[in-house]
Parts: sequence; structure tokens; C-alpha cells
Amino acid sequence: MLSTQLLAPGQLEMRQVAVPEAGPGQVVIKVETALTCGTDLKTYRRGHPKFPFPFSLGHEYTGLIHQVGDGVSDFQVGQAVMGVHSAPCLTCRMCKRGFENLCESIVSRMALGAFAEYYLAPAEVVQQNLFLRPAHVSAQRAAFLEPLACVVQGQAQVPLQADDTVVVMGCGTIGLLHIMLAKERGAGRIIVSGRHRQRLELAVELGATDVIDVDQQDARQAVQRLTQGRGAELVIECVGRPEAWQEAHWHAGQGGFVLLFGGCPVESTATFDCTRIHYDQLTIKGVFHFTPTDVKQAYHYLCNTPLPVEKILSGSASLAQLPDVIQQLDRGQGIKYAIVP
Ligand SMILES: [Zn+2]
Ligand SMILES: [Zn+2]
Repeated sequence: MLSTQLLAPGQLEMRQVAVPEAGPGQVVIKVETALTCGTDLKTYRRGHPKFPFPFSLGHEYTGLIHQVGDGVSDFQVGQAVMGVHSAPCLTCRMCKRGFENLCESIVSRMALGAFAEYYLAPAEVVQQNLFLRPAHVSAQRAAFLEPLACVVQGQAQVPLQADDTVVVMGCGTIGLLHIMLAKERGAGRIIVSGRHRQRLELAVELGATDVIDVDQQDARQAVQRLTQGRGAELVIECVGRPEAWQEAHWHAGQGGFVLLFGGCPVESTATFDCTRIHYDQLTIKGVFHFTPTDVKQAYHYLCNTPLPVEKILSGSASLAQLPDVIQQLDRGQGIKYAIVP
């Protein structure tokens, strides 16, 4: 079968490899759609500390069950499924403390390889994080399960009350999903800061009430003006740069919450105004990955609510075109593509 292989940073090739075989508890899925993700681009540029070259990419997928391993009773060949690429061990110290997203072996359990004709889902994913895809859910929509689960986990860290003002910093896939989810959860005003007119227009289409083009305006002043100097109840940072982490707490009002969602480069540091954190009692939260509860919640949103996730897609391409698509994303063209093998 055709599969992506990342040979070195910036060197992505399509190669013929053997179709995977389902071991005990595993299933092989014939991929119908796999989505590109910011993580894929980051991995393409830098490699991945946990995966030695060459390795395959792709982790947002949906498809048809092609083969089931021994002991799999919940799925049958031919069924349409949607899933994520990891699941916690449930036995380590962090899992037992309720931090399944921080499972001590979660990173080594991540199974990449959805940019291929067939994808091998590990046994723990089959047990915890693989679901039947209802007929009314399109393949493109179903493939949003993983990024939406991350966003659900993020918003689970912070309170959001009806009519709250939320600032979302950044309008890539994650920022746009946060806008939709905050709207679905009843946020009153959603102020979005970002760049590129098209993305800001899309943010408005998806629920932003105000947008700040950071190339034209000072975001801090704009948020203060839009909130009559009060600041926001919730700030969600989705840029992943230390400057953005620092800026985020200036957008929060008294008693406000700041969710730092975007991952920054290794060893970066950020500084915060201590007086603000103390006298205005700000809560600053980090977040990573997702739990099976978040995946179930994301599945519910995709199957039972009109969350317009598909609008994020910039287009679709064949598997053979993937290296070109990744290069386009690397040049800043488009947000997210559906890869259809
Ligand atoms: Zn992803
Ligand atoms: Zn664990």
C-alpha cells in the first residue's frame, strides 16, 4: 500500500509498504479520510523527539474496518468507524490520579500512520477510543474527532458561563474549533485575534463577534476597548509562542481564566505581571492532549450538534499529493486539508 514516510526534517516521501496485519485486540482500518494537522507540519519541519526516522504521519482519520484481530468483538469488517490515535494505560500513577491525558506512556502509545491506505489501530484505542460512525456523519466531519477532543479537554479546564466574554488568540484549526465550542457552550461575546483577512472572516462565520487583525491593531488595547476596560472572563491562547502566552493574561479581567493551549518551542520561557495575577486573581492553566471522556464528548458534538467543523477545511487532495499539500501548509497556504486515499 501507499504510505507517507518522513525520512528527515522536510523530507517527506510516499512509499510502498506492506499493509499492516491486525494483532490481538487490534483492527486495521481502510482509511477513507485523514486530515492534516498543525502537529504534522511541526513534525515535518523538526522531526519528533519520540519517533526515530523514518516514520509515517497522520493521526486524524476515519474509515472502514478492514480486518479485526483476535479477541475484538465490538467491531466487524465493513463497519464505518472514527477514532483517535492513542488511549491511556489506565494503570499508571497519572491515570490513577485521574490525569489520563498525562498517562505516563501516552506519547509512546501514539500510533501514527493514517496518511496511508490502511491504518493499524492499537488494542487500547479499539477498547477505549474507537466508535462507529453514524450514517449521517460524513467522513470529513468524523475525521475531526481528535482535534475536537483536544479542544474539549482544553475547555474542560476552565469555567465558561452563559454570556461570558471569551478572547480566542489565533485562528488556525484549534482557535477556530475553540470559537465554535465556546459559542455552542453559550459564550456571549467571542473576540478573536489573529492575522490574514480570510481566516478572520472565517472566524466571524464560525461565531466570532469581534475580530482583531494583529497586523493592523494593538490586540491589548483592542480587547480593553471592546470590553470597556474590564477584560474577558476567559482567554484561550492558541498561537503557541511565548509572546502570545505573555500577552494572554493582559486580556483577562478580574477573576478571569487564561487557558494556554498552544505548545511553545522547547525551553521557551514567558513572564507574567505578578500584581495582576495576585490582585485580579487570575487563573492560568496549561493543558495537554485528551482523555477518553473528552473523546466521547467530541464524538457527541460531531454526531448530535451542528458544530460546523467542516468549514475549516481548505480543500481535499489524494494521498499521492500529500507532500505538495504539506509544502503548501509550510508556506502558510490553507489551514487544514482532507486527504482521501
Ligand atoms: Zn491533530
Ligand atoms: Zn497511564
